[in-house]
This record gives sequence, C-alpha cells and structure tokens, in this order.
Amino acid sequence: MKLLRQLIQEHGHINIAQFMEIAMYDYVNGYYINKLPVGKDADFITAPEVSQLFGEIIGINCVNVWMRMGMPSRFSLVELGPGKGTMMADILRAVKNVEGFKDGFNVHLVERNKQLKEIQEETLKSYKVQWHENILSLPKDVPLIIVANEFFDCLPINQYIKIGDSWHEQVISLMPKLEEFCFATIPALSHFSESLNIEHPNTRHGSRIEICYPAHNIIRQVAEIFKSTQGSLLIIDYGYDIDPKLRKDYNGTLQAVKNHKYHPVLSDIGNVDLTAHVDFNALKQTALANFCNVSEILTQKEFLVKNGIILRAEILKKKASSEQIIEIEAGLDRLTNDQQMGKLFKVMEIFSSHNSPIFLNPILEII
Ligand code: SAH
Repeated sequence: MKLLRQLIQEHGHINIAQFMEIAMYDYVNGYYINKLPVGKDADFITAPEVSQLFGEIIGINCVNVWMRMGMPSRFSLVELGPGKGTMMADILRAVKNVEGFKDGFNVHLVERNKQLKEIQEETLKSYKVQWHENILSLPKDVPLIIVANEFFDCLPINQYIKIGDSWHEQVISLMPKLEEFCFATIPALSHFSESLNIEHPNTRHGSRIEICYPAHNIIRQVAEIFKSTQGSLLIIDYGYDIDPKLRKDYNGTLQAVKNHKYHPVLSDIGNVDLTAHVDFNALKQTALANFCNVSEILTQKEFLVKNGIILRAEILKKKASSEQIIEIEAGLDRLTNDQQMGKLFKVMEIFSSHNSPIFLNPILEII
C-alpha cells in the first residue's frame, strides 16, 4: 500500500494501530471500506452466518434485557458492525410476537462499510432502520439495547513487548534496500513503561500485551449514554478474560485471515482481514470505572446454552426435513462445541447501573 510506505518513509515507522487503521479503513484501499469480508464465499464466517439459532438466541436475550429494564414502551435496538444484517434479521423474526416489545423499538445500525450497508438495506428492507457512522449519533432519549458480534475484534490495537524490565512498542518499518514491510520495536516512553510494569507486575521477558484504545473509547461513550438512559451492551467476540496482575506469559493475537485461512499480517495489505482477540477483562475494568455494571464473562457455549439454544434446536428440528436436521445439528455443534466456537468466543454484558442483573429463564415460546 502506497500510503503506508509514504508514512513509514516520512516517520521511520508506524505503530500497529496506525497500520490497522489504514489497512482496514483507508477510504480508497481499506478492507472494511471496500471488501465483503463475511460469509461462506468471503474471508471468514461468523456465528449468525453459521446458523439462525445464534441470532434467535440473541433476540431472546434482548427480550430478557427489555424485561429487566421494566418493559419500556419506547426503546432502541442497536447493532454495532452488523455484517450482512443476518443477526438483526434473526433477532427481529424471533421477537415478532412479543407484545409490548415488537412495536416499541426503532432499529439502529452502526456500520462503516458501504457495500455491507447496501446488503443490510436489502436484508432488512421490510423494517424501518437508521444507519450511523459511529455511536455518537445514536438517540439518547430512550433506553438502548445494543448487541455487537465480532465487532470489537476489528478495532485497531497497539502492541507492547517486554524486553528485559522495560516495555517497547511493536511498530512496522521498511527493510533497508528491499523496501518490504517488516516488524520492529521502539522503546516506550519511560513513564508509560513504568505504568505497564505496575499494571502487569508478573509479565515475563518476551511477552506482548495489546491495548485496544478505540474499544475503550466506545465503552466510555456507551457508559456516558447509559448515564442518561437505561442501556445494555452485549459483546460477543473471540477473546480472553485474564487478570493482568496474575498474567505471566502472553502472546500477541494480531492475525490476518483470507479465504478462511491464516495469512501473513504484512502481505496483501488491504485485502486481508486483520483482527486481534478482545481483552474482556480490560473492557470490564473500563466499564466499571465508568459507573456501569458488568455481567459475568461467559463462554459462548455457556451463554447460548443458558439462553436455551438446545431447546430451540429441538423445536426447529420437529418441523425440519432430514437434511435440515443435519444442518441444525451441525450449526449447533459449530456454535457451542469447545473445539469450535464454544470456548474461544466470550460473552459479556455491560449495562447501566439502574438495571438489575437478574437472569431470567429463556422464553422460547415467543418464537
Ligand atoms: N456482526 C457481523 C459482522 C462481523 S464483521 C457478523 O457477526 O456477521 C465486522 C463488522 O463490523 C462489519 O460489518 C464491519 O464493516 C463493521 N465494522 C468494522 N469496524 C467498524 C467501525 N469502526 N465502525 C463501524 N462498523 C465497523
């Protein structure tokens, strides 16, 4: 990418966040601006594309959240990074018979990719939907039920490496003569290095930590909205929940994926999906520091099973052909099996402090 080269030639290097921002969001060549990342024929497949069961269970959870909020007569149903709109379509179908809920909301989608927005318009054409470039323009006068599946993993991260007793930032530079992109490190500012040592006192030499500043900003913005109205944000993503005080070894999680396969991070820039695992523990700390409540961090399997996915699969199977039964079972397995998406993906809810964190039983009869 020309722009990356120019920036590195001018500044000597760029950090990982700048690299991801340009590779993913550059207005001309950015992956998330132009490409169609999600789906069987694209670079990666997500839970809503695996099975309708996923979106339906998220829909049931939205109804539970709404009940906890005291069944407000007006509210917003929001999705961050809705991909092809599949999950929202499944949510809306799942809740269509819930009295009080079904007529009470407007749908708001936060999306930066123009092509995906067009697909979302088509998928959701029978509903009234409003699009937003970011969460700042979301309505703040009614309660918000926000869902985000595989959204936070796209946001740019900074990566730091511990060398000896001090921390260095991972950057990207150009190899002399060859002009190819390569990884390099630069020492972090000394006071920042000291604060990383305080936050991560047991980390060993060679470990890498990742900080996703835009994710923390979004949590802070959401928390600000939740001060004036009730709200809930459900985050589903692949990630980890580790207390930084206890962490000893840690590898970076920045990865590139193309055509469902891992790919070198520094090649084919702009044509491959770049992601990093979500640090759930860190997001939880930011939410708590901004006066929100936070649920227990569950694995995707725990969350889906608790919300009735097995029952829902049984119900679907009763009306299904033998071929469809195989498909339903395969989808359920992919979503919940620990070797597949069941364990690596985590689920956490951040909610305004005036909501009670009671878990209600699944209400499958609504679908
Ligand atoms: N949630 C969908 C899609 C996941 S891919 C699913 O599960 O299938 C990530 C989605 O987030 C895409 O729709 C992408 O265009 C969108 N996205 C990525 N970064 C974004 C940003 N900074 N602002 C808004 N949308 C973003």
